Amino acid sequence: MKIGEILRSGTFSVSFEFFPPKTEEGERELFETIRNLEHISPTFVSVTYGAGGSTRDRTKRVVEKIHRETNLTVMAHLTCIAHSKQEILNILEEYRNIGIENILALRGDMPKNLEPPADACKYAYELVMLIRENFKEAFSIGVASYPEGHPESPNMEWEIRYFKKKVSAGADFSITQMFFVNEYYYRFVELCQKEGVYIPIIPGIMPITNFKQVSKFASMCGATIPDELIKKLEPYADNQEETTKIGVEFAIRQCEDLLENGVPGLHFYTLNKSKATIQIYEAIKDRIEALRKVEL
Ligand code: FAD
Repeated sequence: MKIGEILRSGTFSVSFEFFPPKTEEGERELFETIRNLEHISPTFVSVTYGAGGSTRDRTKRVVEKIHRETNLTVMAHLTCIAHSKQEILNILEEYRNIGIENILALRGDMPKNLEPPADACKYAYELVMLIRENFKEAFSIGVASYPEGHPESPNMEWEIRYFKKKVSAGADFSITQMFFVNEYYYRFVELCQKEGVYIPIIPGIMPITNFKQVSKFASMCGATIPDELIKKLEPYADNQEETTKIGVEFAIRQCEDLLENGVPGLHFYTLNKSKATIQIYEAIKDRIEALRKVEL
């Protein structure tokens, strides 16, 4: 099913993001996680892609396996920066042939030791255009958004200008970078609307289960972790159980506030684990079930 159509029907979306594991054991664990999350009936799940093309085969294999062996709608992430246009078209053709209908169109970050092919799409909006030109409506296209601004954006005006370019090129919806301060998300949506951009922007939620790891991710992508949360987490930096408890509690409050403010869905960065996401979902389940009443 196409995610854009699901969102346009007004259905509240719940989604989970996974990465393609490197080992057979990792893949077995991922499919256990997927089975654990299946009872929530997510609107869709998504599988990330290595910008250097390093996970090309693994991403496709996991996407195909989810599509074949479960009833879940799956979206393949695809980064364009390290691929020639023909390589991108081949990947998309393969996806279309196996019945994949949803692509998260991304630029990715060029690995330091590689040179981009001469005709590579340099920004995600070019990838969106390439998909629409060659595949018309065969895919529903999602794009990334950055409520606190992408690290390469000097200001929010710049951020919105280039986000709008992806939407004008044909993106149906967006998923945000993780954030921990909802006001950034609300301000971003407001700025988009002022510029006439109304596609659904789904907040990306990162349940904190490992403080050092999330601090590293957050500083890389410029996501602010509020001081009061850092103060709570720091004393337990080496205590995963306590960190998860605090992280889950924080994410529940964050999601409750987002739900009260009418978000179109919630996208969880699962890091291939189900426990924290299930705990968060269970706590907000009643509100979400009420919002998901539109039958597909
Ligand atoms: P773009 O939208 O092309 O733009 C990034 C920035 O470049 C813009 O914010 C703007 O500052 C600038 N810019 C854009 N267009 C122009 C222009 N025409 N001229 C000048 N400047 C411009 N990475 C992966 O490698 N694999 C994944 O699977 C993956 N999944 C992701 C999922 C989500 C939900 C998010 C939010 C990010 C994901 N990323 C992934 C990370 C992403 O690839 C990086 O953030 C990357 O740096 C930017 O990709 P983009 O598609 O947002 O780029």
